[in-house]
Amino acid sequence: MPVQCSSCSEKRAVLKRPKTGHSLCKECFFWAFEEEIHQTIVSAKLFKTGESVGIAASGGKDSTVLAHVMKVLNERYSYGLELMLLSVDEGITGYRDDSLETVKRNQQQYELPLKIVSYEELYGWTMDAIVKQVGLKNNCTFCGVFRRQALDRGAIMLKVDKICTGHNADDVAETVLMNVLRGDIARLRRCTTISTDSENEGVVPRCKPLKYAYEKEIVLYAYFKKLDYFSTECIYSPNAYRGYARTYLKDLESVRPSSIMDVIHSGENLSVREGVKMPVQGTCSRCGYISSQKLCKACVLLEGLNRGLPKLGIGKHHRFHDKILSQQPLTEEEERKLKAVDF
Ligand code: SF4
Ligand code: ZN
Repeated sequence: MPVQCSSCSEKRAVLKRPKTGHSLCKECFFWAFEEEIHQTIVSAKLFKTGESVGIAASGGKDSTVLAHVMKVLNERYSYGLELMLLSVDEGITGYRDDSLETVKRNQQQYELPLKIVSYEELYGWTMDAIVKQVGLKNNCTFCGVFRRQALDRGAIMLKVDKICTGHNADDVAETVLMNVLRGDIARLRRCTTISTDSENEGVVPRCKPLKYAYEKEIVLYAYFKKLDYFSTECIYSPNAYRGYARTYLKDLESVRPSSIMDVIHSGENLSVREGVKMPVQGTCSRCGYISSQKLCKACVLLEGLNRGLPKLGIGKHHRFHDKILSQQPLTEEEERKLKAVDF
């Protein structure tokens, strides 16, 4: 027997909301999904009237839904925001080149300006070239560090006040789990915050309007709205450690859908004991980017690539910073260890 929508009681339900279990028709689902994001934006005061906001757009489902919903809400509730799309081209043939085509179509569909910054122009290296040198084990470390800076640099070029990213509830819960498993207290504290403000001066503030949106609902929204997005995985394989956290979380979710929210709330409510040493933020002496060390991670990784010592920025590398800065050569033994590709 067809089920009626539990919200309007008029139309037939077409889905059961993964987050609440309610049976809803398409229109009531769209409304509920968009309203929850609006509530998130309003209660966390993510934006101010007149701000220009760069939407980090990869062409994937999260950022496509984010761009779509931001445009809808900006008009429905007169946020008064100037929206733009900001994309990073990592230089991954057969993956990013195709997904950027999707972003270019989204730009037309949503009539928003688009800026693309590439690893090649910023760092002189594409991910294709990096993988050739470092192999497939630590490639995501390079990619993640470079992307973070690339987004900031793109945002500065676009002169936007803020960046919003498509991180969803599943991503946040996964990151909480990963930081617990790694014992990374500094990141654990930061990863659940919905927005970074001017605490890191010189860096464009970021926020996550989809922080409480379930991945399953983002997929349903994109599907029923027939949004144009790119769904292929990166050819350089997803980060293995995150993959374990993801599988674990999906298992929990299948038994108890509220697990995702529960993990996020646990992360939000954790407090760090007095006296635990936290890294002090300063700036990189080479490029000026925020860093708790003399050199930022991107500069050390880049130095390693340029010197043919790919392991230089992986793991503990602080002891090399002085040598790099004063351009002193490393010892033969150090070079031998850092050259190895089998890491
Ligand atoms: Fe970059 Fe790794 Fe993501 Fe591919 S999977 S885009 S290499 S971080
Ligand atoms: Zn730097």
